[in-house]
Amino acid sequence: MNENTAAADPLIAGARRDEICRIFGESYDPARWNDWRWQMRHRFIKPEQFEKLLRLTTSERRGLAMTHEKFAVAVTPHFAELIDPDDPDCPIRRQVVPREEELLVGPGDMTDPCGEDHDEVVPGLVHRYPDRVLLLALDTCAAYCRYCTRSRLVNQGELDPLPRRLDAVVAYLEAHTEVRDVLLSGGDPLLMSEDRLDEVLGRIRAIPHIEFVRLGSRVPSFLPQRITPELVAVLRKHRVWLSLHFCHAREITPDVARACDLLADGGIPLGSQTVLLKGVNDDVQTLKDLVHALLKVRVRPYYLYQCDPVVGTGHLRTSVAKGIELISGLRGHTTGYAVPTYVIDAPGGGGKVPIQAETIVSYENGQALLRNWAGRTYAYVDPAEHA
Ligand code: SF4
Repeated sequence: MNENTAAADPLIAGARRDEICRIFGESYDPARWNDWRWQMRHRFIKPEQFEKLLRLTTSERRGLAMTHEKFAVAVTPHFAELIDPDDPDCPIRRQVVPREEELLVGPGDMTDPCGEDHDEVVPGLVHRYPDRVLLLALDTCAAYCRYCTRSRLVNQGELDPLPRRLDAVVAYLEAHTEVRDVLLSGGDPLLMSEDRLDEVLGRIRAIPHIEFVRLGSRVPSFLPQRITPELVAVLRKHRVWLSLHFCHAREITPDVARACDLLADGGIPLGSQTVLLKGVNDDVQTLKDLVHALLKVRVRPYYLYQCDPVVGTGHLRTSVAKGIELISGLRGHTTGYAVPTYVIDAPGGGGKVPIQAETIVSYENGQALLRNWAGRTYAYVDPAEHA
């Protein structure tokens, strides 16, 4: 089955949607399908639901039976429609359907690879860099990525709801005048109601030294139906930026394109973070297709992340050498706006380190010898006083 075709052709899409709805004992109704709350109520979470959705492999069957205690499983009907039911190597499927390999612990695997717990100053508020903080808004997502760097927290029931933490968060931010940038992130802040989001953003925005507020969200990919004019109005009111999360061009369906249009037309700046994943996007053409598809819907590819060494993700991670090869295959080979920064979040809390192929061949006597995208070398000569 070609998922691109299925998503684009309304007749084929309708047939698959009907099959999906029937798993829940309903028939396809476009109005219900386009209601994000219906999508959330009809997520695939149980092994028997996946049995009806896909031709499962032994590894997936074992994964579904054994991993849910370690990390939640959920897939929205929207995202489920993009999965090839017959292909275990489907790049959409690899992102959200657990496999037995998740139970393996490899060398270097960590539960908190970014060292966020160490920098938590108030429950759910991480302050590592001097001028910016991360606020974990809630602990649920529309669907669960099998490589989630916060799997130790997400859907584990350990994070109090934000209303109970908000006074302490605001008090900390008011007292720390060096903080100018707040990132609300996963769990997914766009799953909050408009009223709750308005209240949270309003209280953060009322702090005079907070200049910049970002939200990290995979909702436009997992649940584009959530992007409504009412939600966009709240985001616009508080002048936020959005960091989205897409891993494969097949995620940019007509519904996703409409959601991104609504956001872009509402004046919300959009960037995308992509996690480099084995068997999902680890070849140049696949990545190129993704970054081009993102530009078409006015989303700027921002970061390409080396997959964090979270316990149980070895089967989804690539080598750093592969990442360098891929980013070298993009830089200079396509529009500069389409090229994300390839970074490794240094394990243990070292922060993001940009990685790229060696572009300076030598630098001596005031002359830098540069290697360009085609492998040719060129000299840049410093002004005389630096020679
Ligand atoms: S959307 Fe983000 S926080 Fe949620 S499961 Fe995926 S990576 Fe984790």
